[in-house]
Amino acid sequence: MKVWPLKFREHDHGELLFTNEAGGFFRSDQRFLERYVDGILTDDDFEFLRRHGHAYRDTSDAAFDGFCGRWARRINPVSKLNYFILIPTLRCNLTCDYCQVSRAPETASGFDWNDEILRQFLGSLSKLDTETIKIEFQGGEPLLRLDILEEVREFCRNNFRQAEFVVCTNLQSVSEEAWEFLGAADTFISTSFDGVEEVHRSQRTKESVVHSEFRSNLQRAFSEFGTAKVSALPTLDVHNLPDPDTVIRSFVELGLRSIYLRRVNYQGFARKRYDFRDTQEAWMEFYRRFVDRLVEHNWENDDAVEEYYLSHLLRRIFRTGVQNHVDLRNPNWLGYDYLVVDFDGQYYPTDEARMVSRIGRLDLSIGDVDSGIDARKRDVLNSAASNFEDPDCIHCVYQAYCGPDVIDDLSRYGRIDIPRHETAHCQHHTALFDFAFELIYSEDPKVQRSLGHWLGTPKYRTELAARLK
Ligand code: SF4
Repeated sequence: MKVWPLKFREHDHGELLFTNEAGGFFRSDQRFLERYVDGILTDDDFEFLRRHGHAYRDTSDAAFDGFCGRWARRINPVSKLNYFILIPTLRCNLTCDYCQVSRAPETASGFDWNDEILRQFLGSLSKLDTETIKIEFQGGEPLLRLDILEEVREFCRNNFRQAEFVVCTNLQSVSEEAWEFLGAADTFISTSFDGVEEVHRSQRTKESVVHSEFRSNLQRAFSEFGTAKVSALPTLDVHNLPDPDTVIRSFVELGLRSIYLRRVNYQGFARKRYDFRDTQEAWMEFYRRFVDRLVEHNWENDDAVEEYYLSHLLRRIFRTGVQNHVDLRNPNWLGYDYLVVDFDGQYYPTDEARMVSRIGRLDLSIGDVDSGIDARKRDVLNSAASNFEDPDCIHCVYQAYCGPDVIDDLSRYGRIDIPRHETAHCQHHTALFDFAFELIYSEDPKVQRSLGHWLGTPKYRTELAARLK
């Protein structure tokens, strides 16, 4: 019998978590580790490992094929370009403290797509080898250029079998024409709501009259279109964290069942205005407290609420092929399946890459709408797109579920070759995966019930929770 290579990490109370490269996992103890390292596994050990996908007898047996299939399905393939984030204008009608994109004032000139950029972009769409397309309008505030949004949408509807649009708007000032635009069945709204009225006002809308305009637009969006079409994301300051119960209540009142907790991002204006030193521990303490409150909420209510990123990590742990979140996948190919088109027509591989470039730290553009993709620059960025060759990740127990973030490394350190465990991305994900496995192995029926909802297996986990009661 042959055992696939196992990696391990100390977990709760001296228990060790073991994983293999296809994402299989189990917990055992120090004695098992010693038998494994010394090559003296027992027949029972081998039988356990074979039954759970960690060992095989022969390359022709089902256990071998199963492992290879699971390993292969965890690889994110290069796929066709069919998703664009567009910045038709960098101008904005708000002045949020944590603005990540270094927005331009509403009255400034030279920060919008001109006719030539629009024409060249639409021309590039006609050459795409895809029948489906997704367009996300960002900014600045994209509704300031409703005319461009309308032209792009019309073009896509006429030239692709299926087209979907997301408008990332601050919902501050919405004309009747804009409401009509947003009401179309193929168009979705993504907005910001910082979880608690006072926090939102102090970080974003500032004056109460401005805030009440936002508030009434937010209510109108949810009452007219519902949560199937509208999502809201909070951005939180680690030095001024809100009460988790208040945030959960506010989102539930809006009808939302998914909350994506995000810290102020180390980008744009926020870089100068916020203190990012030593915030990881405080953030994780809040994050754990928040998830604890979600677990309580889900125990007492039928409408379960999730923290989006935790659910995503859990899905990546339990399933193969979960590549639907561009911030965490492996390899995380840059500049292939999606592109950002900035206000000046430059292409960027991610939204963070355009933010880093905007502050003049590094030029991470990879071409433009006129000359097309700069394949040489894209190749250089992709030289570290996967964690398969990373000298630290290959020893990590979480490698199968994790993925690299080259742009975050470049943004923070100006390079990509520092030891992985010293990076913010690695420290944060190690803490998150530790927490996720703590929940997975929890015997608390309340936790098991929430896990069932987050993983989409509520019946099984609820039954397990009942047995554990
Ligand atoms: S980035 Fe860190 S947590 Fe992720 S696989 Fe690499 S070493 Fe592990």
